[in-house]
Amino acid sequence: MSNRPRILLVDSNTDDRALAALLLRRELPDVEIEEVGDGMVLADRLSLGGFAVVVTEYRLDWGDGLQVLETVRSLAPDCPVVFFASAGSETIVAQGLRQGLSAYVVKGSAGYLELPTAVRRAIDRNAESRSSSERLALFQRLTDELSLGTFTALADGRLAAANEALARILEAKSPEVLMGRNLVELLSDETLQAQVLAAMARGRAVRGLEAGVRRANGDMTWVRLALWPVVEPGNELVRFEGALQDITGHRKAERELSERAAALGRSNADLQQFAYVISHDLQEPLQLIARYARLLAGNGSVAPMVDGKRYLANLVSCTDRMQAMINDVLAYSRVDTRGLPFTQVEFMEVVQQAVGNLKAAIDESGAAVSWDRLPALAADAAQMVQLFQNLIGNALKFRRETPQIRVYAVEEPERCTFAVADNGIGISQEHLERIFGMFHRLHTAAEYPGTGIGLAICKRIVERHGGRIWAVSEVGRGSTFCFTIPKSFTRASGGGVPETKE
Ligand code: ADP
Repeated sequence: MSNRPRILLVDSNTDDRALAALLLRRELPDVEIEEVGDGMVLADRLSLGGFAVVVTEYRLDWGDGLQVLETVRSLAPDCPVVFFASAGSETIVAQGLRQGLSAYVVKGSAGYLELPTAVRRAIDRNAESRSSSERLALFQRLTDELSLGTFTALADGRLAAANEALARILEAKSPEVLMGRNLVELLSDETLQAQVLAAMARGRAVRGLEAGVRRANGDMTWVRLALWPVVEPGNELVRFEGALQDITGHRKAERELSERAAALGRSNADLQQFAYVISHDLQEPLQLIARYARLLAGNGSVAPMVDGKRYLANLVSCTDRMQAMINDVLAYSRVDTRGLPFTQVEFMEVVQQAVGNLKAAIDESGAAVSWDRLPALAADAAQMVQLFQNLIGNALKFRRETPQIRVYAVEEPERCTFAVADNGIGISQEHLERIFGMFHRLHTAAEYPGTGIGLAICKRIVERHGGRIWAVSEVGRGSTFCFTIPKSFTRASGGGVPETKE
């Protein structure tokens, strides 16, 4: 079959048909013409398809033009129809136009001249509308394939059109269900709502906005939103068009990646920390042990009994210290390797339990420990108790006068910041970071008991929860230890690094 447009010419009058065919062939040399005089043949030809236009006389031996129009509509719905009919059929033509007739040419000398132009116009218009509907279908297939939600919204944000992909992203039954809902109200964050509303009010575009939206079932999903104003001639803002892409998977992958990177960074820092501990902190008692052992061996029987006893006592105390340090290192490494899955934790109960565990020290110091309303968050409950116990324990230990300890929390959309404030001895600025390192102490064990592992463990616990810890302090007035726990950090198991045998 050639690619030339094919015309189906319908007329039961053979002479009229031949004349019309002659004219069309002469004026439109690029077309192919098929002539039909019989109703049965017409249906037969139409069902084969491929016609660019049907030109029909109104009065036929076996029916009329409206019947032809009906047959074309049922067998070749996209094919335009042109009436070529005797004068006086105006009312019929009006009815034909209502049923989708493309053009009407009155038979007669002027009509014969006009026919080729009318047919050409019908062919061109049809080709244009077919290519634009093909483009539209392609666009729809593409947006669907890319899961790209597209929409049109009125100037106030109410949705006026949406595609299937948008309905899928928002878990709506169909795009129709979304009609009339306000796009801005779908955003779960009020700040972003205000930002989008302000841009829309000024007729400005919004691009690349990442926001959480609430789905029909109440779940949250992350999307990237873009919308732009459509201004018609006359500078009148009519509507917004836009696109919405589901980036939940993206964000999850991003978060997992950054969690893994953080875990990797932590395990690297751990290795360095452990190497440092082994080469410095553990060396010190080890050297003392060796010294006392050498003294004992060297002095042997000649050493006065009293010196021997003292050396032995020192040796035992050094081994005890070393043992304690090794236990501390183990406790530190277990924060990750023995961590429990996160569950919804009531922080009021956590603090109550920590305070209960410290009852003896609280009673002994006469401390007043108070706490405000604390939230519930996903966390490792046992580690949270240990964290508060270490911080409150330090506030009791490094006291100046009767300890006043206050625990409080500040909630933000993404995280919660907890604080433990005391009126103790305080810490000078230059030590505020160092104190979180393993075995970093500012006092001797004689001044204040301890090994210097408590805050290092606190830091590790907080980091396992995706947060950070810091201290603010003033010497002689007191200290406040703060840490954050993110709300979206949902690690379900132990550490991010593989478990190791201890
Ligand atoms: P430890 O309590 O065994 O010394 P930590 O790691 O808990 O070990 O604390 C490290 C150091 O930080 C302490 O030795 C102390 O100097 C300082 N520190 C911790 N908490 C406080 C506090 N609430 N007030 C003053 N100093 C503190």
